[in-house]
Amino acid sequence: DLDTPDSNYSLEEMDRNSLFHPLTSISQHMANGPQIMGKAKGVRLTDHKGKPILDCSGGLWCVNVGYGRPEIAEAAKQAILDLNYWHLFGSASNEATIRLSDRILGLFHDHAGADHLARVFYGTSGSDANDTNFKLVRYYANLRGTPEKKKIISRMGAYHGLTMAAAQLTGIPSYHKAWSLPDGEVFYTDCPHYYRFAAAGESEAAFCDRLIADLEALIAREGANTIGAFIAEPIMGTGGVLIPPAGYFERVQAVLDRHDILLIADEVITGFGRTGAWFATGLYTLKPDIVTLAKGLTSAYFPMSASVISERMWKVFEAGSAEFGPVMHGFTYSGHPVGAAIAMANLDIMEREGLVANSADTGAYLLAGLRERLAEHPYVGEVRGEGLMIGVEFTADRATRRPFQAGDAVHRLVASKAQENGLMVRALPFIEVVSFSPALSITKADCDEAIDLFAGTMADVT
Ligand code: PLP
Repeated sequence: DLDTPDSNYSLEEMDRNSLFHPLTSISQHMANGPQIMGKAKGVRLTDHKGKPILDCSGGLWCVNVGYGRPEIAEAAKQAILDLNYWHLFGSASNEATIRLSDRILGLFHDHAGADHLARVFYGTSGSDANDTNFKLVRYYANLRGTPEKKKIISRMGAYHGLTMAAAQLTGIPSYHKAWSLPDGEVFYTDCPHYYRFAAAGESEAAFCDRLIADLEALIAREGANTIGAFIAEPIMGTGGVLIPPAGYFERVQAVLDRHDILLIADEVITGFGRTGAWFATGLYTLKPDIVTLAKGLTSAYFPMSASVISERMWKVFEAGSAEFGPVMHGFTYSGHPVGAAIAMANLDIMEREGLVANSADTGAYLLAGLRERLAEHPYVGEVRGEGLMIGVEFTADRATRRPFQAGDAVHRLVASKAQENGLMVRALPFIEVVSFSPALSITKADCDEAIDLFAGTMADVT
């Protein structure tokens, strides 16, 4: 029965009676939820009861410039007053989106060695951008006369979003269970996580050899003429902050080139400084035909995503244009002028405050601090990271690297205890990892506090 809202009707009850939460256990939420956030500034959250929390999650890895930036609020207000909406359909355009596109390409050219990237297509979320990419692979195959070359290879542990096509690209079984997704279009190759998935005694080089052989075998089995693209997060985020073994991407790229397969680099998390480089495309010298962007593009001040495509894809689209007609794909909010103005203000802050360099610097500091303080903990297996994308992986046995049994979920326990202690980190769904992905504006003093809070939390996990 729904209560009648009155002064005794709490926000908690109203939430349980009216909200359908994404990615949430309904039974647990009904028993324990919700946890309502009140305000935020910089890296500091305050929940609606006034409890202070140091945010080392960056929301969902997305608040790159930190919370409560007045410059972004001003830019949003001005953009709304100037032109709160115009679209991009047909030849319609708007100044903010034109300037943003030029700037994104410039960043890739200047900071990622990716001067082959040539055009930017906009969406509103990482998921819809990957849906766009899924369709662009098909569009490309049709327009260039290889219509059978449409399958996509993804990887176990990958997270590429949850819309219908993006969910198929996501290689984490829990996201597929009970949803009856279509199959036959996406195939998964091995997860490149050495700590957990190497065989006993296998060297990192041998592990990498095995990953490449698995990819080659998959391509041979399906037929290279049927495979259009390979999609990868340069560092897997939701999968557990999984840093690939040395040389992995060079070798993957060589395989893809040999079989004429496009690379889609999903930089939804790694883009815009998260790894201490502007883009992981530069960090790993990738040559993607499509780059997916979202999150840090606006630091989550506006829902906006982008697919950045290569010159060679663009040339095919341009050449096929007269024969195939208009590009019949896009959204009301593709290239929203308010989102673009917010993205520009966000990038201004990143550049002015040197946040990419700060990510590298404070990321190394936070990683070193966590490693030092957790070195002796019996359940801490590996602490790894690149820039401000850091993961702590748990194990039931440091010698054998045995995971905890399903159901123990020690990482969930750690994340919830940390939150009680005033530190927000995330427990991830694929393997037992908690992640740290704070705003790139975090200071070393904030990091010291985070390290103390986390080490203190872990001291109680015995
Ligand atoms: N791709 C990656 C690598 C992500 O981490 C995410 C979200 O976490 C997505 C895609 C999906 O983005 P969204 O949640 O905005 O749809």
